[in-house]
Amino acid sequence: APSSDASRRILDEIEEQFRLTKEDLTRITTQFLEDFSLGLREYNHPMAMIPTFVTGVPNGSETGTFLALDLGGTNLRVCEVELLGNHEFVLRQQKYKVSDALKTGEATALFDYLADSVDAFLTEYASAVPSSPSSERGNPFASPSLSEEPAVPLGLTFSFPVEQTALNEGKILTWTKGFAAKNAIGNDVVKLLQDAFDRKHLHVKCVALVNDTVGALLSRAYTGGSCILGSIFGTGTNGAYVERVENIKKLGNSPARQKGGYMVVNTEWGAFNNTRTVLPTTPYDNKLDRQSINPRLQAFEKFISGMYLGEILRNILLSLIDAAPKPLLFNGRSSGPLNTHYGLDTAVMSEVEDAWEIGRVSSVPVDSAKSKANGVAATESQPSSVPDWQSTHFTDVDRLSPDDKARLVRIQGILVQRLALDPADVSLRDAAIVRWAASLVAHRAAQLSSCAVAAVLVQTERAKLGGGFATDEEKICVGVDGSLIQHYPNFNARLRDSLRELVGAEVETKVEIGLAKDGSGVGAALCALQATKQG
Ligand code: ADP
Repeated sequence: APSSDASRRILDEIEEQFRLTKEDLTRITTQFLEDFSLGLREYNHPMAMIPTFVTGVPNGSETGTFLALDLGGTNLRVCEVELLGNHEFVLRQQKYKVSDALKTGEATALFDYLADSVDAFLTEYASAVPSSPSSERGNPFASPSLSEEPAVPLGLTFSFPVEQTALNEGKILTWTKGFAAKNAIGNDVVKLLQDAFDRKHLHVKCVALVNDTVGALLSRAYTGGSCILGSIFGTGTNGAYVERVENIKKLGNSPARQKGGYMVVNTEWGAFNNTRTVLPTTPYDNKLDRQSINPRLQAFEKFISGMYLGEILRNILLSLIDAAPKPLLFNGRSSGPLNTHYGLDTAVMSEVEDAWEIGRVSSVPVDSAKSKANGVAATESQPSSVPDWQSTHFTDVDRLSPDDKARLVRIQGILVQRLALDPADVSLRDAAIVRWAASLVAHRAAQLSSCAVAAVLVQTERAKLGGGFATDEEKICVGVDGSLIQHYPNFNARLRDSLRELVGAEVETKVEIGLAKDGSGVGAALCALQATKQG
């Protein structure tokens, strides 16, 4: 029938728009490398390549007890981290809510609240901070009479853009993620925090400022023994890697540069492609970008991260609901969540793909629970474990196996429940179409993520684009964190498949992708340790 030909054409066209060939991926990675090099040379490049003044990575033998404060995620967290020196640690943590009033009020009020939270934590939870004198009542660190004791060292994980000038110094560039506290931008975040500690007479010293990617890198190095790249695939995406100081040209003749050696660089790769057009952008991406609070910024992040994937899928589904000459989904009917900006959470996409995967190929999430030794479940490098994301199952659902039909029934249930659709409007074919669309969006995200990883491998001379390069290293460790890489079915396997295409199997098999467990807490502690050694 002509109308089904027309439907087919619409779906094929979408599939085509999301397809990335090996050549595309190679071109994108090449541009990544060029941007790395520009960002290392000059300040104010979108690929910020921020020097972090972290000059070494741990090997797991480090010991000590430190406080860590983490601001930038959904909650404020205060932790006490005890590094045992055998790749293991003990972490006690408490979460505190940050109200919207605090997020948007005076910065001093926000930082006073951070100090109060640390105070409350020390009083109620902390138990093993060294030099902690026993005290019968309340927090011993609050007493000014203890000023001869060294202050308790604290590392601050601050996941907002900062221009770092020393391990314990950095100017806030902008707020993101709903924060807008007044009189903070342009100020040193460490000083803001320390002043608040001092106002409260807390015997705590903020000795290190850490980005969450750097935290992931350090914590993975500690638990796994080595690590070259820490990366986040969660609400947003970013990565930090170990670079030769010599290559960080924008440090000029500063003492840090003259010292040589290595330094961790926070790439801020979420901003890749802000000023270029190397990513094959679909109408669904353009719509997302136009309607976002930061049009044309964080361009790469918008193709990849948890905050956006569900929204891209929502845009596709709406276009299919509205398709002409006849609707291609849900009898042409939408729903409250589907009509709401960001109304389709990436977690729902993940559920849909999961329902399709159950009992099929083994999906291999990065999951520390699976291999407790080092948190790695990602050594699979057999030929693709990635399912048939390209095949268009939905053309004749009647001929599906009973198992596949059962999977589609599960997806139907998820769609009705999560998207508040009328069950009468969700056919098996609709379920199959949604599953297919979700896999297109997620597969592209994983492929593009592999470009970022490949770029770091090439930049650090561990790989060559096109393969045929063998490093003597036995393994190349990458630490990851974030809901997307931890929970999205096959994200990791898809990323690896595409990494193999880019750098060849010899190098790809050596790459060990492992979870950076409690990266922000443990990373901040490790950074505080480094600071106390340097100081
Ligand atoms: P953050 O990056 O802020 O530390 P997370 O790593 O938990 O937080 O990431 C949160 C993001 O991950 C949200 O955008 C959410 O939509 C998405 N998300 C949450 N659960 C899942 C899941 N099971 N699968 C895929 N994405 C998820």
